[in-house]
Parts: sequence; structure tokens; C-alpha cells
Amino acid sequence: MKSCKLCPRKCSVDRAKGETGFCGQTERLRVARAALHMWEEPCISGTRGSGTVFFTGCGLKCVFCQNYAIAGGDVGKEISVDRLAEIFLELQEQGADNLNLVTAGHFAPQIAQALDRARRQGLALPVVYNTSSYEEVETLRMLQGYVDVYLPDLKYVDSRLSGRYSHAPDYFARAGAAIREMVRQAGEPEFAVESDVGSAPEAPRRERKIGVEEYQRRSEAGEPLIMTKGVIVRHLVLPGCAEDSKRVISYLLEEYGSRIFISIMNQYTPLPHVAAYPELNRKVTPKEYEEVVDFALEQGIENGFIQEGETAKESFIPDFDQSGV
Ligand code: SF4
Repeated sequence: MKSCKLCPRKCSVDRAKGETGFCGQTERLRVARAALHMWEEPCISGTRGSGTVFFTGCGLKCVFCQNYAIAGGDVGKEISVDRLAEIFLELQEQGADNLNLVTAGHFAPQIAQALDRARRQGLALPVVYNTSSYEEVETLRMLQGYVDVYLPDLKYVDSRLSGRYSHAPDYFARAGAAIREMVRQAGEPEFAVESDVGSAPEAPRRERKIGVEEYQRRSEAGEPLIMTKGVIVRHLVLPGCAEDSKRVISYLLEEYGSRIFISIMNQYTPLPHVAAYPELNRKVTPKEYEEVVDFALEQGIENGFIQEGETAKESFIPDFDQSGV
């Protein structure tokens, strides 16, 4: 943290001395919310909820960010590593199906410390790492052995889009390398029966390993199963960007086939701060979304999630009111 290069911005600021770089955060942990969250993919949220911790700040700061209040650093409470470990254990006590760390890369060293402490005190939940994918591979290697499930975005292939909307023309190269590292670490997807996922401290981790085929069959029959290992890459379809979405899907299928899940999302919500980008100031139409989903099906996608119905509502964006912090 003395010359921070945790993410591809490589700001080289001394966060230990209170300096801040692009992410806007010193070395002090800041958290905006820690609560059970139901709006992730079914194998992440389950029926009990994902124990989601929203960290303040972001190394990407997309202009259309759905969590702009925390990405921009406006909300969040400073906490210690010990308090973060306690929060993890509190979420486990509340019955969470996993810990879900949202935009945590700029605090990766402190998170590893907090997970060590919480595990010594009985934390048994799978750990989900939820990221924009604008990450340094070295930082991800620091998390090896701490993270069970990676939940990365792949937002764009086109550098003009990533330059305009995320100030990162190198996004695709960086995110591609980061996702490769995540797949290397997490390997093939595995699932467990929800009631076996360790909410009780004495419950063994990964008591039962369920592979993808059995997962597909049993989840279609309505059985709640939780991902305990693997990678789900998310892609949010943006207005007017269906062609780039197809390039994202093609890339993921060519590189990883059925070794990962792909989640194609239609929940883009234009918020007031996007007004300077008029082309983004509308929802994605059903036709645009269907075009991307149909393309994925034509390309032979086997492991995927799609969203149905009206998900593009501000009410799906949680209150960053420091609940649970
Ligand atoms: S984590 Fe923050 S300070 Fe460090 S390189 Fe990334 S944006 Fe810069």
C-alpha cells in the first residue's frame, strides 16, 4: 500500500499515509453495506441469501455504474480488519449461503487478513469474489486459497467502449488475463445442497460435491443448490451495444466452453448521472436483449443464466445505508 499497484491503474500512491489514487481509498477499509442479498444468480443467492459486503471505492468507475454512490466513495464507514472478520461471522450466523465480496480488489490484502481471522473463529462459508475484472493478476494470486467462487464481469471487447464508458481502453486485455487467472484458481464448477453449506461453524466445507450435469438436472427440479467452486462471468447488455455483447459471448465460449457459466443480464438502469452520455440514457429493449440471448444459444451455450421479466428497476439497487457494518 506504500506505492499502490494493486490494480491496473498502478497509481503508485502511498495509501498507508492517507494518499488516494483512482479508487479514492486510503488503506483504511470502508464498507457501505453488509447484508443478505437475494438478487444474484440462483446458485449464489439460494433461498437464504448471499452474505454480501459492498466495499467503498472502485478502480474502474464506469459512467453508468449501478452502485455509483459507493463506487464514487460517497458512502461507507471506516472499519478495522477485526471488525470485517466479525461481519463475516455475523453474516454466517444470519444463515447466509456464502460471503459475497463486492468490488474488493483495492482492499485485497486486508480482506485476506480478515478471512484468516474469521476462519480461525469458525467461518465455513464459500467465499465469492464479485469484480469488474479490471484487476491485476498478481493481486488475484494473493487471493488464491481464500476465494472459492469468482463472479467477474466481462463488460466489453471494444476498446472504444471501455475507453468512453470506463476510462480504460485496455479493459479487455486486463479483464481477459484476470478471468484466465480466476478460472485457473477455481477450476470446474461444483455445487452443494443448500442445507449442507456451512452455516453452522462445525459443518465441514464442501461436504458434497455436485457436478454441472447433476446441478442442471436437480436445479431444474427446483432443488436449491449453491455454487461452492467455479466461475460465473457476468455480462450486462448496454443500450446500443448488442454487437459488442456478441463479441463478449463468442470470446467466452471459445476460450472456456462449458468450464464456466455465463450470466447475460438485462438489468441496466439509466441513473441520473448518465445524462452526459445520451446514448446510455434509456433501458435495454427486450429486442436487444433477446438478440444477445439468441446469439448465445446459436453459439451453443450450455451453462448460462438469463434474466426474465422487468429487472431494470432502481428498486433492485440496494440501499447503501451502512446496514450490518
Ligand atoms: S487500488 Fe486504487 S490506488 Fe491502488 S492502483 Fe488501483 S486505483 Fe490506484
